[in-house]
Amino acid sequence: MAGEPQADCLFCKIASGEVPATVVRETATTVAFRDINPQAPTHVLVIPRAHYPDAASLAAEPALLADVIREAGEVAADEKVVAPGYRIVFNTGAGAGQTVFHAHAHLIGGRGLEWPPG
Ligand code: AMP
Ligand code: ZN
Repeated sequence: MAGEPQADCLFCKIASGEVPATVVRETATTVAFRDINPQAPTHVLVIPRAHYPDAASLAAEPALLADVIREAGEVAADEKVVAPGYRIVFNTGAGAGQTVFHAHAHLIGGRGLEWPPG
């Protein structure tokens, strides 16, 4: 069923606490933790506790998708990267660099960010 935990999903295990992570914020519906391979001074992943494979499927629960985006903004404020700016990225599909198929927002900031992204 949509949103149910998946046995072999790394981020479901981080959400449940089975796999440790450096958690920076938690809510009833989301967890934010530092990326293990940071690409910027601030690189935090925000996940819904519920399992959805990507951002578009997470949109089936609009309030939960909003929770993820709101939490990314809260982390950006906590990390003082709101100015000059930050990026929220949802890699979707292997060809776009998605390696973990549990929806996650990358919150990236603390350095200059080029456009277009690579
Ligand atoms: P993506 O490539 O968009 O699917 O993002 C997955 C991200 O998860 C990558 O940036 C990885 O560095 C990160 N990652 C993988 N394993 C862990 C972990 N155990 N704790 C924190 N971040 C992780
Ligand atoms: Zn999952």
